[in-house]
Amino acid sequence: MICPDANDLQDLMRELHQQGSAWVPCGLGSRLDWGPPLQDCLPVSCGGLRGIVEHKPGDFTISVRAGTPLLEVQEALAPHRQWLAVDQPWGSQRLGSGSVGGLVARGLAGGYRQRYLGIRDQLIGLSLLRADGIAAKAGGRVVKNVAGYDLMRLFCGSWGSLGLITELSLRTLPLAPMRRGLLVQGSLSELGALSQWLLGSSLSPERVDWWSAPLAAAAGLEAAPLLLIALASISSESLAQQQAAIAAQTPLPLRQLKADALEQLLAHARGDGPIASGSEVIPEPAWLLRLGFSPDQVPQALAAPELAGLAIELAAGSGLGLAWTLTASPAELAPERVRRLRQHCQRLGGWLTVLRQPPGSAVAAWEDAPSRPLIERVKHQFDPQRQLAPGRLPGVASP
Ligand SMILES: Cc1cc2nc3c(=O)[nH]c(=O)nc-3n(C[C@H](O)[C@H](O)[C@H](O)COP(=O)(O)OP(=O)(O)OC[C@H]3O[C@@H](n4cnc5c(N)ncnc54)[C@H](O)[C@@H]3O)c2cc1C
Repeated sequence: MICPDANDLQDLMRELHQQGSAWVPCGLGSRLDWGPPLQDCLPVSCGGLRGIVEHKPGDFTISVRAGTPLLEVQEALAPHRQWLAVDQPWGSQRLGSGSVGGLVARGLAGGYRQRYLGIRDQLIGLSLLRADGIAAKAGGRVVKNVAGYDLMRLFCGSWGSLGLITELSLRTLPLAPMRRGLLVQGSLSELGALSQWLLGSSLSPERVDWWSAPLAAAAGLEAAPLLLIALASISSESLAQQQAAIAAQTPLPLRQLKADALEQLLAHARGDGPIASGSEVIPEPAWLLRLGFSPDQVPQALAAPELAGLAIELAAGSGLGLAWTLTASPAELAPERVRRLRQHCQRLGGWLTVLRQPPGSAVAAWEDAPSRPLIERVKHQFDPQRQLAPGRLPGVASP
């Protein structure tokens, strides 16, 4: 991987374009290997594009260079009692939080999406360099923006296939003064009824996440499915009222968690927590899968035998989440079972993406999306020489 100085980046890209060389834009390289394998190409890091360009606390906006670590942005916002309303990415303890550019390029925000929407909804402006080295901009640094082609959303989830993001402007949010977690364990159908009511209620939880029994057990809890509900408010009275409303809907006991304990549990959901039996960190999993189901199908989906034994964290409102093996042993999950799991997801209105798999297994990371022809036309417009991220175009099965 090369990490050019910010001032040299554009010249480098023009040069690579003239040579017709293959390369891939990357952030800090922390999760570059997730997903379809890249063909031979030069990783060009944005590590030289670092720092906060402008934070306007009164306007609740921030502009950052693409290579700035997410953690650094959150630390800069915290003294202003603000934050970017996204989770820490999976594996942050081992891999780091990654860059904000990488976060947008993957287009994922985690369970906080329930209340704060996804990263694409928080993005208000973006600067980029095209494959030929020409600079372009979309949106701006203010929340109200001019109309035009929505390049920002196109780049959310582009996986480095359309261009290199150099700077981003995002909305910030006030940190809620009061936060509380609620933990409920029971059968899938009991939890399904509660989650359905909660999502349709007038309460606005920050997150409502499903956990599989193995993930609960790895966090030292009873080995049963659970719902993790996070509430946030400006007053403790409001939190108590919300909790009482939830308790009235279920015969299952609610366990209340203070903000610190909630954070600790969220670390488990990111594959970061210490395992129950000691202080050892969970090993790098052999398999890491991203999956999605139609939200109303989640309880039924989680009952599938193909998911048995896996740690699963899934946002109830979106039906999107991660599943991973709790050990590094490839034997824990056979490739054939992953293929069956993909079919199971598809039957329930969803999909499956393989982010990590053991060496030697070759399950397609993703399959063709119905809009493949359109995706390929967009790719051609941005990168006619097909230099960027060869072998990896979201929605197009790898060759
Ligand atoms: C809650 C949450 C859940 C997440 N879940 C997933 C998940 O399930 N799967 C997943 O793949 N990611 C997921 N992410 C995103 C992932 O964490 C980020 O990709 C990572 O943090 C970025 O790390 P990095 O800067 O080291 O980027 P890298 O590891 O270097 O690159 C990551 C990807 O982004 C592209 N990229 C990076 N920087 C740029 C740039 N400046 N311009 C254009 N493209 C760029 C790369 O080509 C590559 O495809 C999640 C993030 C959050 C917050």
